[in-house]
Amino acid sequence: MSKLVQGYEVVIGFETHAQLSTTSKIFSRAPTAFGAEANTQACAVDMALPGTLPVMNIGAVERAIEFGLAINAHVAERSIFARKNYFYPDLPKGYQISQFEIPVVQGGEVSFFLEEGKDTVRKTVRLERAHLEEDAGKSLHEDFIGQSGIDLNRAGTPLLEIVTQPDIRSSEEAVAYAKELHKIVTWIGICDGNMQEGSFRCDANVSVRKPGQPLGTRREIKNLNSFKFMQQAIDYEVRWQIEQIEDGHTIQQATVLFDPDTGETRAMRTKEDAADYRYFPDPDLPPLVIGRDWVERVKSEMAELPRVMAERFVRDYALPEYDATQLTQSKAVAAYFEATAKACGQPKLASNWIMGEVSRRLNASELTIEQTPVSSAQLATLIGRISDNTISNSAARQVFEGLWNQEGEVDAIIEAKGLKQMNDTGELEKIIDEVLATNPKNVEEFKAGNAKALNGLVGPIMKASKGKANPGQVNALLMKKLG
Ligand code: ADP
Ligand code: MG
Repeated sequence: MSKLVQGYEVVIGFETHAQLSTTSKIFSRAPTAFGAEANTQACAVDMALPGTLPVMNIGAVERAIEFGLAINAHVAERSIFARKNYFYPDLPKGYQISQFEIPVVQGGEVSFFLEEGKDTVRKTVRLERAHLEEDAGKSLHEDFIGQSGIDLNRAGTPLLEIVTQPDIRSSEEAVAYAKELHKIVTWIGICDGNMQEGSFRCDANVSVRKPGQPLGTRREIKNLNSFKFMQQAIDYEVRWQIEQIEDGHTIQQATVLFDPDTGETRAMRTKEDAADYRYFPDPDLPPLVIGRDWVERVKSEMAELPRVMAERFVRDYALPEYDATQLTQSKAVAAYFEATAKACGQPKLASNWIMGEVSRRLNASELTIEQTPVSSAQLATLIGRISDNTISNSAARQVFEGLWNQEGEVDAIIEAKGLKQMNDTGELEKIIDEVLATNPKNVEEFKAGNAKALNGLVGPIMKASKGKANPGQVNALLMKKLG
């Protein structure tokens, strides 16, 4: 059951353009590097000079295959390039080469965890397709008075357009999906994921409906290139559509832009239908044929995928699925976890510390795991000192603090801060006897059958021991003394 907004169900489908990390363009040899001076990276093919012909970049195909394998999709044996016809000043050919009826990647799915109240639930979004296409150039409006400039450096840059089914049900799910997809493409290295530079941009198709009704008319929010704006834009769009419907208007299919300054979405143009583009197979390019041996070779050369690694973590380290997914957010986090778990032999404790204290501190100081001042070896030693009862959990947090501030090694910090747990039974018994003597009421109540009265005794004992008593030992001794 999805969450309703004012009695409406939200329906979202995503189209994401991931710029593939090839050094040259999809159909020419011109370089793809970002930020070069205008028109210095556009060759005759990119400028659509007469007589030029496109030639497929094998690196772009290989990246599409990798993506298909990563999301459990079908990599088509044969796919077709098509011309998508439209006029735009930054599109010198008058058409974009894309794939239409038969895309290279078909189906597949992306799944991730979501927090829903106190629970975490797994959500799976089905993909419809992913197809190869070329990017267009850019129109430049700044620095020109009464005129616009055209920069064709981006023309012909390879893109993988990744299209979902309309499976997403809230802005939170949309952001979680986009983050997971971003993780996958950067993990397998087919895209640098740089959102500021436009290497990973999302279009969110948003509609609303009353539960049980057919799909509503969608509006497509274009070019969302930050997770924060993505959430704001969708939330605004949902509220806007509901307001329109409640006021008795119908939603017109449209393409809209989000303005971060006003926090609103604004219609750019009414949306074209596929028929408007007069797609037809590009006669300049043969069908893209991908043999099964090629797919197998790519598969054998790919690094372990995040979801495969997560499954391994569940199997080899007996971690809950949720932990395994969190720890495979990036290769660096996963490596840090494995190093810690192997060194201390306590995978679940290592996971708790990394998802808890370590990530809290990293987030607060805006650092990545690569920059953590606490090495995996130090964290492993710290965990070892908890499990051999040298220190309590609360003392361990103080030691971690010391490690973070580079105050020295684990044992030195324990020593310097006097955090060693009291393992001397004699000393502890003396404290317990004193507390029992000064709290006769609790003792009586406990003996009369009120188990909670024990808390009133444990507290003062821990306090008198300055937090150094071992809670397990305190309990055992108390039970012995109280019978
Ligand atoms: P187009 O190519 O014209 O944009 P598609 O049929 O390829 O249209 O769909 C684009 C995206 O819109 C897909 O992600 C799809 O899941 C999503 N979508 C389709 N219909 C709806 C709808 N009614 N509400 C929300 N999303 C939708
Ligand atoms: Mg589309």
